[in-house]
Amino acid sequence: MALKSKVALLVESRRIEIDEFDVPEIGADAALLKVEQAGLCGTDYKLYAGGLAKKYPIIPGHEILGFIERIGPDMARKHGLAVGDRVVVEASIPCGHCRFCDKGEFRLCVLGRFYGFTDASVAPHLWGAFAEYMYIAPGSAITRVAAGISADAATVAASTLGNGIRWMRTMGGADISKPVVIQGAGAQGLCAVIAARESGAYPIIMTGITADASRFELARELGVHHCIDVLKEDPIAAVRELTNGAMASSVLDVTGSPEAIALSIKLVCPQGTVACASSVSGNRPAVIDTNELVRKEIRFQGVWTHSLENTQQAMRIAESGRYPLEKFISHEFSLDEADKAVRCIGREIAEIDPIKVAIKP
Ligand SMILES: [Zn+2]
Ligand SMILES: [Zn+2]
Repeated sequence: MALKSKVALLVESRRIEIDEFDVPEIGADAALLKVEQAGLCGTDYKLYAGGLAKKYPIIPGHEILGFIERIGPDMARKHGLAVGDRVVVEASIPCGHCRFCDKGEFRLCVLGRFYGFTDASVAPHLWGAFAEYMYIAPGSAITRVAAGISADAATVAASTLGNGIRWMRTMGGADISKPVVIQGAGAQGLCAVIAARESGAYPIIMTGITADASRFELARELGVHHCIDVLKEDPIAAVRELTNGAMASSVLDVTGSPEAIALSIKLVCPQGTVACASSVSGNRPAVIDTNELVRKEIRFQGVWTHSLENTQQAMRIAESGRYPLEKFISHEFSLDEADKAVRCIGREIAEIDPIKVAIKP
């Protein structure tokens, strides 16, 4: 009997059904992944809520960890992989020969195809990680994962920590003994703390709200020096005080709040960098003080996902065991509970206040 894969299928906005597909034949330059765990982020909720889908049905799941179940000879040779190897797969499905793929900047590939967002009616159907098995297309970017790393730590490393390294350090410019502010205490802000620590930044300041109390606690464990509750304290005065009047060399905004983005301009020092990863929902673009941007020669830098190199760096950090990455996964669900998992990350379930959520098929 042909192998089948159980999947969680988003058939329309806000409707996930459990279904199954035949597992496809694997070509010479492709592979089949047995999914170990899929991480969820806010983007999964936006997809679920109807903001992102180009065409249904979709198998969501773009934070991908699993074991190679089958692999074609060309892909095996190219990546040095064999059946049974444990890997993470980047979300982008690169075309392999546009001007961005040529530079390794797959996430900007002109075709814009991603696992977890692709029409599942198109063969070989298994385009997302909310499934027992996922197809790995030619050209996919793959990183090996050591057996000693827990599934939770590997999932965090390949998603939010990879982002944190790119946003806080590569693009944000975090550096030795330079003050940084991280706006937002969610999983993404917490991973940026790790990147700031690894970069030697000092002091590391995080802003959040009163409801972030438990996340502030984890932030301190990770190495944040000061947490500012913006509902209780004036963040501009606090950052001035904590930096001896200098303000922050780098500010990273992961809040999704137009008010916080505008505040970032006030928290950064002259010639500093504001890295903005926030996409504001509900079509409310942030209004920033461009006069201040000009006068202070601020670099305002948009940032989005990460490169393959950032994933490799993040995986080394996970291997080192220096940070409790597994604590980031606060809630786990089965594939049958995919609908609940997505609503959980979207904060629709009143009694659950998640940091990061994962599905184990
Ligand atoms: Zn994600
Ligand atoms: Zn491309």
